[in-house]
Amino acid sequence: MKILNKVVWYAGFVVSVFPVCWVFFYLWEDEDIWMEIPLAIGIIGTLSIAAAGKVGKINLAPPDPDTYPVPFIGLSSMGGSQIYALFSSGLIMLAMFIAFGRSPVGIAVALITVPIGFVMLLMAAFVVPYLAAVDGIFLLSVFLAKIIDRYEYDVNTRRFVCPGCGRKFYRPSYEVEGELIDGLCPTDKGVFHREMRSSKIPCFGSKSGRKRLPQCCPACREPVNTEEGKPFVLSVAGAPSSGKTSFILSAAGKAISSSGNGNASSAEFYFKKDASVLSDYRAGRCDPTPVSFLSPRIVCFEPKHFPTKRLVYMCDVSGKFFSGGVETDLQPQYVYNDAIVFMMDPFCSDPAGTAFGAYIGFMEKYRLLNRLDASKQITVPFALVVSHSDKPGPFSGISGAELKEKLSEEGYFTLVNMIEKDFSSVSFFSCDASKEDGSASAVMKHLCGKEFGQFF
Ligand SMILES: [Zn+2]
Repeated sequence: MKILNKVVWYAGFVVSVFPVCWVFFYLWEDEDIWMEIPLAIGIIGTLSIAAAGKVGKINLAPPDPDTYPVPFIGLSSMGGSQIYALFSSGLIMLAMFIAFGRSPVGIAVALITVPIGFVMLLMAAFVVPYLAAVDGIFLLSVFLAKIIDRYEYDVNTRRFVCPGCGRKFYRPSYEVEGELIDGLCPTDKGVFHREMRSSKIPCFGSKSGRKRLPQCCPACREPVNTEEGKPFVLSVAGAPSSGKTSFILSAAGKAISSSGNGNASSAEFYFKKDASVLSDYRAGRCDPTPVSFLSPRIVCFEPKHFPTKRLVYMCDVSGKFFSGGVETDLQPQYVYNDAIVFMMDPFCSDPAGTAFGAYIGFMEKYRLLNRLDASKQITVPFALVVSHSDKPGPFSGISGAELKEKLSEEGYFTLVNMIEKDFSSVSFFSCDASKEDGSASAVMKHLCGKEFGQFF
């Protein structure tokens, strides 16, 4: 911004010289040598002083702002400092010969200073439209930068979900030179760069360096490493040991080992600890999910065709939350999740009653947190997933409308009916969550839409 200010400042002198010349020649149409000489003295004198910056009390140097970010110089933001500098310097020039009186020295000085003073006063007037135009162009580019940044942010990022505390914000906080800035985006103090004490921070568009700045959560202040990746948040609910954790690890494991179905240059867990949970799962071990808020399992995809990462948050909710006993369930993602998976184990004792009880428990908390009464239908995509499709039973190997019909026949009519009353978009799947055979990935592919589904 300092460089831009200097360019605008010096260009202001050059640009305002032309209308000054035009006025002189307009007033004295004949090319009069007695007009041209003082005009030349005035212009050369003014431009020389401007180039020198400061001569005695005359100061035509660009202001040196001590506030950061450096404000943009212009008619509005700098209070017309160039106009003021030219005007006051012009008056000093005009008054200078008075100091010398009517002596020959005074007359000699006046022959030089009076033309310079007049030229400065005229330039002070003619620099106004120039600075107004510069201001207009600058404000327009800020306006356009904001629109483009907002568009790119919506397309490639959309929102920030803290991996630590699970809360959602528009943007993370960015750390710049030890200072935390919430939502770094183009402002009227800088379009492409926000100039800080010693470095320039790009803050424009998804491809800029902004995404690589140190970032943290505006609420819990935990450092995050999402690089402005676009999040997709999935809640996985269901009765205890219905296969929620296995479902997540099956889908995540397959996505990671296949590099996002071949559509990502890399795919990995955001939290390194989840990699060991995955290897436990592959070895056949799976512990029950603890009764507390658990940071979601996040798979980060480095896409080949998007400028930012795509992050899939899979929130594993302990089954105990839905089976009574645990009163409060503070799952922040219920408010903003993009899809819901409800797991059901048809081989446990009283499977229909267990699934129904867990569903009622989940919906109670879900509606409470979203402040939705029972009459309001929820538009978030919902998948009912029947686990253990490997074991021979009425539901193994079928999905969609066929599975829905079979469920109604086999004693799950109330559950199916209730789900379809609560959710406007319901799908039915059966899967074997104990393996990475693609049955869990098919659910993800369906729920995640085109942009995220391609990785499963
Ligand atoms: Zn947080």
